[in-house]
Amino acid sequence: MEVITRVAEMQARARQWRQEGKQVGFVPTMGYFHQGHLSLIRRAVQENDLAVVSVYVNPTQFGPQEDFHRYPRDLERDIRLAEEEGVHVLFAPSDAEMYPQGYQTYVEVTELTQGLCGARRPGHFRGVATVVAKLFHIVQPTRAYFGEKDYQQLRVVERMVRDLNLGVEIVPMPIVRESDGLAMSSRNVYLSPEERRAATVLYRAWKAAQEWVAQGERDAPRLREKVVRFIEAEPLARVDYVEIVDPLTLEPLERLEGEARLMLAAFVGSTRLIDNGPLTAT
Ligand code: AMP
Repeated sequence: MEVITRVAEMQARARQWRQEGKQVGFVPTMGYFHQGHLSLIRRAVQENDLAVVSVYVNPTQFGPQEDFHRYPRDLERDIRLAEEEGVHVLFAPSDAEMYPQGYQTYVEVTELTQGLCGARRPGHFRGVATVVAKLFHIVQPTRAYFGEKDYQQLRVVERMVRDLNLGVEIVPMPIVRESDGLAMSSRNVYLSPEERRAATVLYRAWKAAQEWVAQGERDAPRLREKVVRFIEAEPLARVDYVEIVDPLTLEPLERLEGEARLMLAAFVGSTRLIDNGPLTAT
């Protein structure tokens, strides 16, 4: 496996692969790998001639009060794990490479970013869309893999690819969870042992919501209230948002009919966690 830190070098490699007609799978990450990342990486290695993984903690997607500086990092371990999975190139650029002096161009997806994490984290999706667009131009992938863990991000990236004709196939991947249901996240290392136990409340809230739907609940605002109360019953948890949305437009629903998505964000202690899952009304 090759570790590339320069944009120009990554671009040269990508150009060469294009000329050779190679299919390139790409997994953009912020590193500190867990099984969620590895599930995306495995799929990329499996279904393409070559796999590229980027490790870049993107400063433009963090708010000024957020955890950019203390976000967990372990590049040596990530390199080792990527190599073991058969990745061809790990791309780990510096901030100076990605945002050189004078940088002033951003990508904005206007509607899908209004609610949910977009409303709570102003500028977050502008940073995400910008860095993903840049990475797609640098790596020129055939396919790129995104986890449903970050469900709004997945929809935003799909929209951007269509709107800007980026010609990359976006492959959504299911959420990988710990054995007690907690969605894997690099941020889970922030949790104390007590908070770690309380953090399963998001998964349990989704399971409870599925049960309420199975029992016939079809009123989305009422179901939403039940989920809020369920999460708030956990003393260490504080709801950031609970929304029941259309899985494609992310618009809040009034009635549960067919497929909906339950979108959850909560603080457990001072750590903000997100989760989501399908709700099917048959
Ligand atoms: P991150 O490093 O947190 O930016 O995540 C990089 C990619 O891995 C994103 O597409 C995430 O949605 C995905 N991902 C993160 N956690 C999980 C998980 N538990 N299951 C599946 N995919 C995940």
